[in-house]
Amino acid sequence: MTTVYIGLGSNLNNPSYQIKKALRTLAIIPTICLHNHSSLYRSKAIGPKNQPDYINAIAILSVKLSPFQLLKKLQTIETEHGRTRTGKRWQARTLDLDILMYDNKQLQSPNLILPHPELYNRMFVLQPLYECVPDLILPNGQPLQDLIQYHSDEKIWKI
Ligand code: ATP
Ligand code: CA
Ligand code: CA
Repeated sequence: MTTVYIGLGSNLNNPSYQIKKALRTLAIIPTICLHNHSSLYRSKAIGPKNQPDYINAIAILSVKLSPFQLLKKLQTIETEHGRTRTGKRWQARTLDLDILMYDNKQLQSPNLILPHPELYNRMFVLQPLYECVPDLILPNGQPLQDLIQYHSDEKIWKI
């Protein structure tokens, strides 16, 4: 079994509902065990402006899937939630499921990068991670707590 952290995000079609529904879906997949998840958090969108606020959370899983099998499963769930892809980055979406960490695996492939390249830069990921695992050491050896302090001016609201 492998421990995986995933990030969930939504800013369309009742975002809180989308996140809760995705968590329920993850909980019943036979090759996935959902151990824990954070509260939901609200933050301002990155990328194109004039889009609704985001709701984000993280989940802690153990999986019997390779990283690529897991990515495929997550993308299937995104599609089931009505996610459409325009090709543009950071568009509003019903559901986004990112693999943040897959154990401490490092991987660089055209369609999967581990850990997620923005893991260290986004408070909407770091804060919910901190809620679940305050003593977490990130794959680059940095304590999560230090990064939280570094990004402490970035606004995010627990809901
Ligand atoms: P960001 O990656 O900055 O959070 P995004 O989530 O909006 O942006 P998407 O359009 O959802 O980006 O995904 C673009 C591609 O990123 C996906 O098709 C997937 O192949 C690739 N990808 C690379 N690494 C990861 C990862 N760790 N988790 C999920 N997708 C990834
Ligand atoms: Ca994302
Ligand atoms: Ca994504």
